[in-house]
Amino acid sequence: MVPQKFEYAAPDSLKSVLQLLDAGAKPLAGGMSLIPMMKLRLAAPEQLVDLQKVKELSYIRESGNAIHIGAMTTHYEVETFPVLLRKCPLLAETAAEIGDLQVRNRGTIGGSVAHADPSADYPAALQALEAKLVLIGAQKERTVSAAEFFVDAFTTVLEPGEIVREVIVPAEELGTGTRYEKVVQPASGFAIVGVAVRVRRSAGKISFVRVGITGLSNHSYRATSAEATLAGTTGAAADVQNAAALVAEGIDANSDLHASANYRKHLASVHAARAITTAISRAS
Ligand SMILES: Cc1cc2nc3c(=O)[nH]c(=O)nc-3n(C[C@H](O)[C@H](O)[C@H](O)COP(=O)(O)OP(=O)(O)OC[C@H]3O[C@@H](n4cnc5c(N)ncnc54)[C@H](O)[C@@H]3O)c2cc1C
Repeated sequence: MVPQKFEYAAPDSLKSVLQLLDAGAKPLAGGMSLIPMMKLRLAAPEQLVDLQKVKELSYIRESGNAIHIGAMTTHYEVETFPVLLRKCPLLAETAAEIGDLQVRNRGTIGGSVAHADPSADYPAALQALEAKLVLIGAQKERTVSAAEFFVDAFTTVLEPGEIVREVIVPAEELGTGTRYEKVVQPASGFAIVGVAVRVRRSAGKISFVRVGITGLSNHSYRATSAEATLAGTTGAAADVQNAAALVAEGIDANSDLHASANYRKHLASVHAARAITTAISRAS
């Protein structure tokens, strides 16, 4: 449980961070995933660049109809920040489901998305929110959608020398109902399955619906067949069941000692129905 020797730097400017990354350093955020991996020798970076002192990466700002969240914002800050609680409650509710208080106090949104654990919570919400991620390296900055960002288990579109700079989520329109439902793996707290839902109603019909899924397969995704089935209905119990039955359609579900592939798919449908029902009840 002792990591391999490494160099350590903790600059206080983004510019210095980017120079070190360009020279091959690995970013360290909350250390909640990276440090255990280093202790287990699953990761052995020769140089770490700690992002903790970089104030340019720690903020939550509302701008127009979007909310910008710096990569070093902790899960606890996401869970409790008033603007997010009012205007993006889905993300705050999701953050509140992550691990325990210690993990939420140290772990960051940038570290979590970059790590891309298939059982992490944020990816479901970020898919449902159609979030954007701003990535920055020494040479360029680019913006990608959550759908593009998550590629496979522990794999994203991040290139060497690039970090997540910020996550951009929508400030919800009035009347949007949202819900994150999670089946917890009791030993770790991670999601065996997690379902994030956003719903709006108009003239008694579901006029907008987004469903994001995590934990079921190697990476998060939007359950578009379920969305299409629910859209335009009144959102009655049968409509919800029909839509929820489709959330795992075409998905190659993971199987492990916690849940077989078929059981995971079953859980996804059951919890999608619950999440959709609650989201509809919260939509006004
Ligand atoms: C006991 C325990 C329980 C947990 N339970 C849950 C849970 O229920 N749900 C859940 O979703 N997560 C859970 N986690 C994981 C937690 O959310 C971590 O905070 C998260 O995975 C990593 O964030 P971090 O800031 O600690 O990143 P670090 O561990 O510092 O880094 C993780 C990886 O991301 C890279 N990285 C860090 N920041 C950036 C950046 N800005 N840009 C690019 N790369 C970056 C690092 O180089 C490293 O490869 C748990 C962790 C623990 C220890």
